[in-house]
Amino acid sequence: MDRVFNFSAGPAVLPLEILRQAQAELPNWHGSGMSVMEMSHRGKEYMSIQAEAEADLRELMGIPSSYKVLFLQGGASLQFAMVPMNLLRGRTSVDYLNTGEWSKKAIKEAGKFGAVTVIASSEDRNFTYAPPPSQWKLNPDAAYVHITQTETIGGVEIFDAPDTGSVPLVSDMSSMILSRPIDVSKYGLIYAGAQKNIGPAGLTIVIVREDLLGQTVAGTPTMMDYKIQADNDSMYNTPPTYAIYIAGLVFKQLKALGGLAATEKANHEKARILYDALDASSFFQSPVAKENRSLMNVPFTLENPELDEEFLKGAKARGMIQLKGHRSVGGMRASIYNAMPVEGVQALTDYMKEFEKTRS
Ligand SMILES: *Cc1c(COP(=O)(O)O)cnc(C)c1O
Repeated sequence: MDRVFNFSAGPAVLPLEILRQAQAELPNWHGSGMSVMEMSHRGKEYMSIQAEAEADLRELMGIPSSYKVLFLQGGASLQFAMVPMNLLRGRTSVDYLNTGEWSKKAIKEAGKFGAVTVIASSEDRNFTYAPPPSQWKLNPDAAYVHITQTETIGGVEIFDAPDTGSVPLVSDMSSMILSRPIDVSKYGLIYAGAQKNIGPAGLTIVIVREDLLGQTVAGTPTMMDYKIQADNDSMYNTPPTYAIYIAGLVFKQLKALGGLAATEKANHEKARILYDALDASSFFQSPVAKENRSLMNVPFTLENPELDEEFLKGAKARGMIQLKGHRSVGGMRASIYNAMPVEGVQALTDYMKEFEKTRS
């Protein structure tokens, strides 16, 4: 066994070709005589890397010119605070959809800055679905509406971004960004930690409509002001240069593979193989409502949880790791991000069938 099939939710699998390219370029990037890690972030070599990464991301996602792209730090978790600090804009209340563990954390943090209205919740069915927009009790005076586009732990994805009228829609896309095309113009702000479906940990991407900037709550630290970050091209201080470089390589590869439409097609195929295997079995189950089954994070349970440990052990022996479900949900979870090859999903479903046959 050389490389494992890594089903981790994050930090997660990266394309082998990119690891090899980074390895080849490590001591001497493009004749600069140094690695990207050693470059001044204000030198022309590094500035070109970051500018190209932004241009490629804009092209991939079709980001309109009226939006700023920010390369920040602090993870998606820091955005739980930065979003209300920047987007309250003199208002007092904010709307949040509660679909699971990450929504709950975002709600808790927003509550430090404003009055949170939970517009709908799926807690009644243990966060196994997303309440449809027709059930959301939107507050017309809210500063914004926040959704978690994919609950990475629960495996619940929202496929259709609803129309929230003049109230900006804010989305945590940490585990589904770049998994399929989305219409950026439907959103006021999108954020994502890079370590799920993009690149290394340490980079957080924010895409924000320009007209929402510049009205932070009093006392907002300089580093947490989107406008200051935007005015400084995400270089108010030293950006996470190496993580941005690797993310840039990922963007280039996705473009070369045909963009997000092609990526979506591959992701649908991988997800179909896994969900079909779950649906065909009475030994394994997917707890998630069909219309909200994430393409990226697939939790599943064994009918007999006493076999969990044995299942995980056998998977590991076959080179498949990080399949244990989150402690809050139990069971298994396979994260099948862009960089997970279809062979990994095939190996998993083959093993599941074999395990079922010998244990049932
Ligand atoms: C992982 C994750 C987070 C937290 O990300 P950090 O970058 O570790 O702060 C937030 N939201 C979602 C949906 C996630 O998957």
